[in-house]
Amino acid sequence: MMSRAPEDVASLGWNPRHIGEIDHRQLKAPSIKLRAAIPCPGGDTIYCVDLRVCRPNTDSLLELGAAHSLEHFLLEGFQQRLPGGFVSVGLMGCQTGFYLVLLNEGRRQIIEDCVERILHGILAAEHVPYANLAQCGNWVNHDPSAAKRVARKLLAERAVWREVT
Ligand SMILES: [Zn+2]
Repeated sequence: MMSRAPEDVASLGWNPRHIGEIDHRQLKAPSIKLRAAIPCPGGDTIYCVDLRVCRPNTDSLLELGAAHSLEHFLLEGFQQRLPGGFVSVGLMGCQTGFYLVLLNEGRRQIIEDCVERILHGILAAEHVPYANLAQCGNWVNHDPSAAKRVARKLLAERAVWREVT
Protein backbone atom coordinates (compact mmCIF):
# COMPACT_ATOMS: atom_id res chain seq x y z
CA MET A 1 0.00 0.00 0.00
CA MET A 2 1.32 3.41 -0.91
CA SER A 3 1.31 6.09 1.71
CA ARG A 4 1.89 9.79 1.95
CA ALA A 5 5.47 10.88 2.64
CA PRO A 6 6.36 11.39 6.32
CA GLU A 7 6.83 15.14 5.82
CA ASP A 8 3.28 15.41 4.44
CA VAL A 9 1.93 13.60 7.46
CA ALA A 10 3.95 15.75 9.86
CA SER A 11 2.65 18.92 8.22
CA LEU A 12 -0.87 17.74 9.03
CA GLY A 13 0.06 17.52 12.71
CA TRP A 14 0.74 13.79 13.06
CA ASN A 15 3.80 12.05 14.39
CA PRO A 16 5.13 10.01 11.42
CA ARG A 17 6.46 7.37 13.84
CA HIS A 18 2.89 6.51 14.80
CA ILE A 19 1.72 5.66 11.27
CA GLY A 20 0.74 2.06 10.68
CA GLU A 21 0.51 -0.71 13.21
CA ILE A 22 1.97 -0.22 16.66
CA ASP A 23 2.62 -2.90 19.25
CA HIS A 24 -0.63 -2.75 21.20
CA ARG A 25 1.24 -3.17 24.48
CA GLN A 26 2.62 0.32 23.91
CA LEU A 27 -0.62 2.06 23.03
CA LYS A 28 -1.97 4.70 25.38
CA ALA A 29 -5.55 5.83 25.63
CA PRO A 30 -7.42 7.97 25.10
CA SER A 31 -5.48 8.88 21.99
CA ILE A 32 -5.94 9.75 18.34
CA LYS A 33 -3.47 8.57 15.75
CA LEU A 34 -3.19 8.42 11.98
CA ARG A 35 -3.08 4.81 10.81
CA ALA A 36 -2.68 5.49 7.10
CA ALA A 37 -2.80 8.25 4.48
CA ILE A 38 -3.57 6.59 1.18
CA PRO A 39 -3.20 8.57 -2.06
CA CYS A 40 -5.74 7.75 -4.76
CA PRO A 41 -5.13 7.92 -8.51
CA GLY A 42 -7.31 11.01 -9.01
CA GLY A 43 -5.38 13.03 -6.43
CA ASP A 44 -7.65 12.39 -3.47
CA THR A 45 -6.31 11.05 -0.18
CA ILE A 46 -8.04 8.67 2.21
CA TYR A 47 -7.12 9.10 5.87
CA CYS A 48 -7.60 6.26 8.34
CA VAL A 49 -7.60 7.46 11.93
CA ASP A 50 -7.72 5.43 15.15
CA LEU A 51 -9.70 6.94 17.99
CA ARG A 52 -8.51 4.80 20.90
CA VAL A 53 -10.76 5.08 23.93
CA CYS A 54 -9.40 2.31 26.17
CA ARG A 55 -5.98 0.81 26.63
CA PRO A 56 -5.78 -2.55 24.86
CA ASN A 57 -5.96 -5.73 26.93
CA THR A 58 -6.99 -4.12 30.17
CA ASP A 59 -10.20 -4.60 32.08
CA SER A 60 -11.53 -1.22 30.94
CA LEU A 61 -13.13 -2.05 27.61
CA LEU A 62 -16.06 -0.24 26.03
CA GLU A 63 -19.34 -1.82 27.02
CA LEU A 64 -21.31 -2.67 23.91
CA GLY A 65 -24.29 -0.42 24.64
CA ALA A 66 -22.02 2.57 25.21
CA ALA A 67 -19.87 1.73 22.19
CA HIS A 68 -22.95 1.43 19.98
CA SER A 69 -24.31 4.79 21.12
CA LEU A 70 -20.90 6.46 20.71
CA GLU A 71 -20.69 5.05 17.20
CA HIS A 72 -24.05 6.65 16.33
CA PHE A 73 -23.01 10.01 17.80
CA LEU A 74 -19.70 9.93 15.92
CA LEU A 75 -21.51 9.03 12.69
CA GLU A 76 -23.98 11.87 13.02
CA GLY A 77 -21.41 14.36 14.24
CA PHE A 78 -18.82 13.76 11.53
CA GLN A 79 -21.49 13.78 8.82
CA GLN A 80 -22.77 17.13 10.05
CA ARG A 81 -19.44 18.77 10.81
CA LEU A 82 -17.28 17.47 7.97
CA PRO A 83 -19.69 17.00 5.08
CA GLY A 84 -17.79 15.75 2.07
CA GLY A 85 -14.77 14.94 4.18
CA PHE A 86 -16.13 12.04 6.17
CA VAL A 87 -16.49 8.49 4.89
CA SER A 88 -17.27 6.21 7.83
CA VAL A 89 -16.83 5.24 11.45
CA GLY A 90 -16.56 1.70 12.78
CA LEU A 91 -16.23 0.12 16.19
CA MET A 92 -13.01 -1.75 16.80
CA GLY A 93 -13.97 -5.36 17.42
CA CYS A 94 -11.73 -5.43 20.48
CA GLN A 95 -13.99 -2.75 22.04
CA THR A 96 -11.12 -0.33 22.66
CA GLY A 97 -12.02 2.38 20.17
CA PHE A 98 -13.22 3.44 16.74
CA TYR A 99 -11.92 3.56 13.19
CA LEU A 100 -12.53 6.85 11.43
CA VAL A 101 -12.17 7.14 7.65
CA LEU A 102 -11.95 10.57 6.05
CA LEU A 103 -11.57 11.85 2.52
CA ASN A 104 -9.15 14.73 1.87
CA GLU A 105 -9.33 15.85 5.50
CA GLY A 106 -6.24 14.74 7.37
CA ARG A 107 -5.54 17.74 9.58
CA ARG A 108 -5.13 16.55 13.12
CA GLN A 109 -6.43 19.73 14.69
CA ILE A 110 -9.63 19.66 12.63
CA ILE A 111 -10.30 16.01 13.42
CA GLU A 112 -9.55 16.41 17.14
CA ASP A 113 -11.74 19.50 17.38
CA CYS A 114 -14.53 17.63 15.63
CA VAL A 115 -14.31 14.76 18.11
CA GLU A 116 -14.23 17.21 21.00
CA ARG A 117 -17.37 19.02 19.80
CA ILE A 118 -19.17 15.71 19.26
CA LEU A 119 -18.30 14.64 22.82
CA HIS A 120 -19.69 17.89 24.21
CA GLY A 121 -22.81 17.24 22.15
CA ILE A 122 -23.17 13.79 23.71
CA LEU A 123 -23.21 15.31 27.18
CA ALA A 124 -26.08 17.59 26.15
CA ALA A 125 -27.98 15.05 24.05
CA GLU A 126 -31.41 13.80 25.07
CA HIS A 127 -31.50 10.87 22.66
CA VAL A 128 -29.15 8.76 20.56
CA PRO A 129 -29.26 9.61 16.84
CA TYR A 130 -30.53 6.90 14.48
CA ALA A 131 -31.60 4.72 17.42
CA ASN A 132 -34.79 3.52 15.80
CA LEU A 133 -36.09 0.51 13.90
CA ALA A 134 -35.62 2.11 10.50
CA GLN A 135 -32.01 3.20 10.95
CA CYS A 136 -30.33 0.72 13.29
CA GLY A 137 -29.82 -3.02 13.32
CA ASN A 138 -30.17 -3.39 17.08
CA TRP A 139 -31.88 -0.22 18.13
CA VAL A 140 -32.66 -1.31 21.71
CA ASN A 141 -28.97 -1.99 22.39
CA HIS A 142 -28.03 1.56 23.39
CA ASP A 143 -26.76 3.01 26.63
CA PRO A 144 -26.69 6.81 26.42
CA SER A 145 -25.86 7.16 30.11
CA ALA A 146 -22.75 5.02 29.72
CA ALA A 147 -21.88 6.89 26.51
CA LYS A 148 -22.03 10.14 28.46
CA ARG A 149 -19.68 8.72 31.09
CA VAL A 150 -17.19 7.77 28.38
CA ALA A 151 -17.55 11.20 26.72
CA ARG A 152 -16.95 12.95 30.03
CA LYS A 153 -13.82 10.88 30.66
CA LEU A 154 -12.46 11.52 27.16
CA LEU A 155 -12.99 15.26 27.54
CA ALA A 156 -11.30 15.25 30.94
CA GLU A 157 -8.26 13.68 29.30
CA ARG A 158 -8.29 15.90 26.22
CA ALA A 159 -4.75 17.09 26.94
CA VAL A 160 -3.22 13.63 26.33
CA TRP A 161 -4.96 12.66 23.09
CA ARG A 162 -1.67 13.18 21.25
CA GLU A 163 0.24 10.76 23.48
CA VAL A 164 -0.12 7.60 21.43
CA THR A 165 2.67 5.53 22.99
ZN1 LIG B 1 -26.97 1.06 15.44
